[in-house]
Amino acid sequence: MMSDGGTQDFDIAIVGGGMVGASLAVALAPLGLKVALIEAVVHDSASQPSFDERTTALSNGSCRILETLGVWSGVEAVATLIRKIHVSDQGRFGFARIDAAEQGLAAMGYVVPNRALGAALWSRLEAGTDVRVYCPAEVSCITTDERRVNVGVVAAGAATTITTRLVVAADGVQSAVRSAFGVDAESRDYEQTAVITTVLPQRFHGHVAYERFTDSGPLALLPLEGGRCTLVLTLNKATADLAMTWSDAEFLGEVQRRFGFRLGRFLKVGRRVPYPLALTRAARTSAGRCAIVGNAAQGLHPVAGMGFNLGLRDIASLAEIIAERRHESPFDAGAPRLLADYDAWRAADRGGVIAFTDGLVRLFSSPLRVVQGLRNAGLLAFDVFPPAKAALSRLSTGAGGGARVPKLARGVALR
Ligand SMILES: Cc1cc2nc3c(=O)[nH]c(=O)nc-3n(C[C@H](O)[C@H](O)[C@H](O)COP(=O)(O)OP(=O)(O)OC[C@H]3O[C@@H](n4cnc5c(N)ncnc54)[C@H](O)[C@@H]3O)c2cc1C
Repeated sequence: MMSDGGTQDFDIAIVGGGMVGASLAVALAPLGLKVALIEAVVHDSASQPSFDERTTALSNGSCRILETLGVWSGVEAVATLIRKIHVSDQGRFGFARIDAAEQGLAAMGYVVPNRALGAALWSRLEAGTDVRVYCPAEVSCITTDERRVNVGVVAAGAATTITTRLVVAADGVQSAVRSAFGVDAESRDYEQTAVITTVLPQRFHGHVAYERFTDSGPLALLPLEGGRCTLVLTLNKATADLAMTWSDAEFLGEVQRRFGFRLGRFLKVGRRVPYPLALTRAARTSAGRCAIVGNAAQGLHPVAGMGFNLGLRDIASLAEIIAERRHESPFDAGAPRLLADYDAWRAADRGGVIAFTDGLVRLFSSPLRVVQGLRNAGLLAFDVFPPAKAALSRLSTGAGGGARVPKLARGVALR
């Protein structure tokens, strides 16, 4: 889809219309600004890298953002509520439970298929917003000066150039836009691969999300409709390669060995898809006339299911700053002061979530007996220590870490 004619000069050009970039486009759509969205792969294509076969665990804060954006009604019917979270360590005694009801919450969050989220976001964009969509289209080159950015766009073999005040890098972990602005990204390979699939256990999941730490990495089971569960099985690389060749029975046998029989026997398994895991962290969240959001800013291990939730808070904050400043005359969406506010707002939340996620992976990967003992004690202590549970629940509502909560996450629409 590519609209023709009209202006080629924008306030904001978003590169990448995946989970985070498309959400930003929907958030900016009602603000009366000239916004372009450039996405390489149509949202319902089999090769779409963001809206693929994964499911995403959404925090309550993220659900509220999607609701305020008018997107939640498009996914609600296929969203599965998480009532409790159960954390355990294979071969050890300690475990912890967090119960939404005990925390005074209706849910700890919801699980949503990525494809459904893509359909809901893109149907909002296609239903007559003013956002100019270039898709399928790729950014070929970027040049910038003090006043604007020139973005080369190639669609169906034809090249065009658009100009914009602000470019948003929402083009994922390998962000070419981030590189074009000279921002380095540090990357640490976890030497692990997450094998994602769907399983059907004998017993109903009861809307409990399970996180189980095993010697080779964490195993997560997220509740889905029809009694099924999403399985995220983290394995070292060599074992993951092998696991992709196992028969369904062999694969389920291994899952059973690691997870145990809390949900009875695993009866069926779907198609398996491997995701190599690394921590990627951009050195900054803006540079020149570029704001960096979502995976382009930070690619996380999925252990705590926080990557998209964090990316949504990136765009909710950026959209709010833009909404507040747009009445200034003259308005410049790429002004240094605006981007400095964005950097400052995101710093604590981003730093905290990256440290928490990376710390969790390291803590539960350690072969040291003393560390293993401590985490066993830690899980037991967590289970009987209400303030720790309440702190984690606040994270789920988007109010964690003392960071300012964006309006969209409080249910306040941007106008
Ligand atoms: C196995 C796994 C499970 C996960 N589970 C969870 C979870 O439960 N909860 C959670 O919060 N997070 C989860 N995450 C993290 C979440 O998937 C990411 O945070 C999210 O996908 C980031 O979205 P994004 O739009 O920033 O980047 P991406 O999803 O990488 O999207 C980037 C988009 O940019 C486009 N693009 C790239 N280059 C160009 C270009 N040059 N021109 C035009 N378009 C371009 C791509 O086609 C793509 O659509 C998980 C991640 C993994 C790997």
